[in-house]
Amino acid sequence: MLNVKNLTFSYNKTPVLNDVSFNAKQGENVAIIGESGSGKSTLLKVLYGEYDLDEGHIFWKDEEILGPKFNLVIGYDFMKYVAQEFDLMPYITVEENIGKHLSRFFPEETQQRIDELTKVVELEAFAKTKVKTLSGGQKQRVALARALAKQPEIILLDEPFSHIDNFKKQSLRRKVFKYLKEKNITCVVATHDKDDVLGFADRMIVLNDNKIAVNDLPETLYKHPKTPLIASFFEEFNVINDEIIYANDLKIIESSDLKVVVIQSFFKGNFYLIEADLNGDSIFFENQKNLETGIEVCLSIIK
Ligand code: ADP
Ligand code: MG
Repeated sequence: MLNVKNLTFSYNKTPVLNDVSFNAKQGENVAIIGESGSGKSTLLKVLYGEYDLDEGHIFWKDEEILGPKFNLVIGYDFMKYVAQEFDLMPYITVEENIGKHLSRFFPEETQQRIDELTKVVELEAFAKTKVKTLSGGQKQRVALARALAKQPEIILLDEPFSHIDNFKKQSLRRKVFKYLKEKNITCVVATHDKDDVLGFADRMIVLNDNKIAVNDLPETLYKHPKTPLIASFFEEFNVINDEIIYANDLKIIESSDLKVVVIQSFFKGNFYLIEADLNGDSIFFENQKNLETGIEVCLSIIK
């Protein structure tokens, strides 16, 4: 189990993390979310042992993770970290990068492992390609596979699919998270993408104001977002009478006190997002059909 106890960290004098505590069990997938600059990447780097803490402790099982003050070489064999900026060896192939730290004394097993991982990240067709000719998204997939090569007990992923296009993203996400579950690898993933969380994360931690704002099940946070920050991570929402109401919880009805005037309709695929005016403020709701600007409709909150 990963055990983070009262972690406090600052860059020089700028505090980034203040009294952060949480656990991640073996095989658990914990998502770290928060606005840009909230300290997600810093948290992962600190967990990896890249920096010394101001206060607190980090344990993986019985072993304390220590920073550069205590370790000549940063990092531990049981833990891998895939940074937002991945550093690969550009002049060797995808396969060679993935197998970089695998033993040369067991060529068959090494090749099997490389083949297995090239499949997980869907790069079979590029196995023999030199990394320098790959796109950003393809490089990100090589970095993921390389981190998995020696089967860590815990992996830290920083925005792991951010460079990957939408065509590949969905299936890749499913494959990678399924692989981690199958191998019982603990995963701490920093992300600003709800699709990395819903359906995959066991717990979701929200960083705000240098602290953990909430740590709960994604489903609970989705259904009962306590703050606009949490709601905004998931969906378009409104605050009506101090209550957070998702755009898809507002429906047009025959008559109600919630009268609004349509400002604009946005095509969203299987629905339209409608922006409307409610006493001078914008309100958002979802509708099956496009609505004409200027018409008045009545809304009701239907959850
Ligand atoms: P996130 O990943 O959530 O966007 P970061 O962890 O990258 O956030 O950054 C958190 C805060 O720490 C930001 O204010 C950022 O400017 C600052 N920061 C990040 N890296 C450094 C660094 N190496 N030195 C000083 N400040 C940093
Ligand atoms: Mg970051």
